[in-house]
Amino acid sequence: VLPPINGDFYEIHLRLNEEDRAVQLKVREFMEREIKPIVNNYWLHDEFPHEVIPKFAELGLCGVTYKGYGCPGKSFLMEGIIAMEMARIDASIATFFGVQSGLSMGSIYMCGSEEQKQEWLPGMHEMKIIGAFGLTEPEVGSGAAGGLTTTAKKTADGWLLNGQKKWIGNATFADVTIIWARDVDDNQVKGFLVRKGTPGFEVEKIKGKMALRIVQNGLITMKNCLIEEKDRLQNAESFKDTARVLQMTRAGVAWMAVGTARGAYENALDYTRNRKQFGKPIASFQLIQNHLVEMLSNLTAMQSLVFRLSELQDQGLLKDEHASLAKVFCSLRTRDIVSRAREVMGGNGILLEHNVARFVADAEAIYSYEGTKEINSLIVGRAITGMSAFV
Ligand code: FAD
Repeated sequence: VLPPINGDFYEIHLRLNEEDRAVQLKVREFMEREIKPIVNNYWLHDEFPHEVIPKFAELGLCGVTYKGYGCPGKSFLMEGIIAMEMARIDASIATFFGVQSGLSMGSIYMCGSEEQKQEWLPGMHEMKIIGAFGLTEPEVGSGAAGGLTTTAKKTADGWLLNGQKKWIGNATFADVTIIWARDVDDNQVKGFLVRKGTPGFEVEKIKGKMALRIVQNGLITMKNCLIEEKDRLQNAESFKDTARVLQMTRAGVAWMAVGTARGAYENALDYTRNRKQFGKPIASFQLIQNHLVEMLSNLTAMQSLVFRLSELQDQGLLKDEHASLAKVFCSLRTRDIVSRAREVMGGNGILLEHNVARFVADAEAIYSYEGTKEINSLIVGRAITGMSAFV
């Protein structure tokens, strides 16, 4: 009898409390039952499975760390475990959830007024309101901190937004999009809650992606889009506030990378134990075992790292450089793991139905979004040397 397939080699699950472990198993069961059977087809057709949103809502895990406003106020560790379990089956679905629960709800929770939190967060927790987060622009990605070109101009009626945002996840169907724009008067970045259907706010679906194809990324164009003062995020004063949100979500992306790596490793291990060549399972060959062990070594290191990362977060000790280091390390190692997973599966490794090809493609997007390897490395470099390499 073969041992069970398990990517948690150092049994990190034994460090979880009962509640976290129960949530882990609940999300795993949900993803296996509801998402795994449909995901390849949606990925292939570049579409989003809207019918699963109410089922996600039933899990009651959206905005799991926030206190109040209908949210349960649980640990960052629990949030990380959720992200990992989702990405273990599909990184697009984990990304959709991350945009909703982390980037969008997080912007409101961390930068909104009491009234704004009360207006938006309960409905977003129940996933009756879907959010998007618009920071990146067609010509401004890594340099968003000092370079945003989308403008906000205060007028007697409110704020006029002008500019474009690119890559905005969930934007094609979001009920509310957080838009980060530069105030032309004080030159500081401010956040705005833009409601679906606002005149002057157009969203075009980005087509032709080779990664995270289920995520509906939009190109947003704003032409004299009028936003009332009450829909300006009242506690976002500058890009430093945007960065507070990104610090939290980057930690979640590190967990997502771990889930992607784990899904690919577990599928590859299963395949190699069953696939026979030269009359033997290919898993019995030394060179295949070497690949599997290298994958597992990295995966185990990644899991240990994100576990401690969440502890830092829960202890209120998380710094930008902690989140950046985890995001760089995990997304880099994930790229290696998914590539080896594909390799040990030979030709079948490039077929969607074998559940690794999708991970190979999706790892590329995880590697680049929420700060590229270079940008996150420079954030760590600045912290350890005391010298900024940013212009
Ligand atoms: P660029 O900034 O043009 O970078 C190109 C290359 O130059 C990279 O390798 C980069 O590391 C390197 N580089 C840049 N500056 C330096 C430097 N100073 N030193 C060394 N190297 C440097 N954004 C949102 O706002 N909301 C979303 O929901 C969202 N979702 C996304 C989903 C997907 C699938 C993708 C692919 C992107 C998403 N993004 C989103 C945007 C994402 O955050 C950006 O793609 C990312 O920040 C990189 O920006 P860029 O693509 O413009 O690359």
